[in-house]
Amino acid sequence: MNKNISFVFLLLLFIINIFGLSGQSVNSYVLVIHGGAGNVTPERIDDEIRPVYIEVLTEALISGERVLKNGGSSLDAVETAVRILEDSPLFNAGRGAVFNAEGKNELDASIMCGKEINSGAVASVTNVKNPVSAARMVMEESPHVLLVSEGAERFSYEKGLEIVDPSYFFDQKRWDVYKEFLRRMEIEKKGMNEPHYDGTTGTVGAVALDMDGNLAAATSTGGMTGKKFGRVGDSPIIGAGTYASNKTCAVSATGHGEYFIRNVVAYDISARMKYSGETLMETAEYVINTKLKDIDARGGIIAVDKDGNIAMPFNTEGMFRGYINSKGQMEVKMFGDE
Ligand code: ASP
Repeated sequence: MNKNISFVFLLLLFIINIFGLSGQSVNSYVLVIHGGAGNVTPERIDDEIRPVYIEVLTEALISGERVLKNGGSSLDAVETAVRILEDSPLFNAGRGAVFNAEGKNELDASIMCGKEINSGAVASVTNVKNPVSAARMVMEESPHVLLVSEGAERFSYEKGLEIVDPSYFFDQKRWDVYKEFLRRMEIEKKGMNEPHYDGTTGTVGAVALDMDGNLAAATSTGGMTGKKFGRVGDSPIIGAGTYASNKTCAVSATGHGEYFIRNVVAYDISARMKYSGETLMETAEYVINTKLKDIDARGGIIAVDKDGNIAMPFNTEGMFRGYINSKGQMEVKMFGDE
């Protein structure tokens, strides 16, 4: 009898050790990334450029995974992955950001730690090479959550982050889109007030679960072509474009920011999981493909829950996206029908 009790006790200890109390294996990790949702179709993304997108997205996944594999934090992993996407001119974040109505690049970013429910963000910065790292500095080295424009730039400089000339962000393709925006506004006599959501803008984001069971999320963007100067989208707004809580999930969004702010999309997904008991997949699908779609709000999200389940729904033609996990699985996709 005693032997049986000891055996059951040892078995329980073994199960707790392997899976933790949450059901998630303690040795498991997941990283999910996106490079923007929108009009991403085989017609718009040329055959020659596709492998380049795949290459950069893969590099972001592998570099972020390296952090997680070595026992690093989900925060370090999402920052690492987002920095790589920011450094690529292919995406609308950091280098390659879109132009606002005045022909300038104004960048937004945020990061959130699901363990501490702590977050940081910067908005409308023009000379910080990696806005996601500035967001992290705000979270870790200031008592604030969001710093904007010159204040955020001065803070980033004082903290030793890399500052660049604004011309660093110039990208000819983005400039051509901006010129086209100006031309269309002229023809349609719409004035300069309407931001252009053409869906190939390429905001970037990452969410991760690390081996300690901690969740994190980060998002970075240049916003939308032709946005009014000083306009801030959802990406640096905690709860709208980015959210993470160890009790539920980590979310990073991309899409028409004004709708994502009004609908508090990232927090809504977390709250629905918490209060209604829906799974991540159910709630993410509902929010993107019913709630937002019904009001013509275009975009998508990536998310991972506390048990390592992932969701990558979008209601646009496509979304640059991918994931990698401790089971050795990795996938990178861009179109809707893949
Ligand atoms: N959400 C971004 C913004 O509104 C744009 C995007 O994700 O494409 O600033």
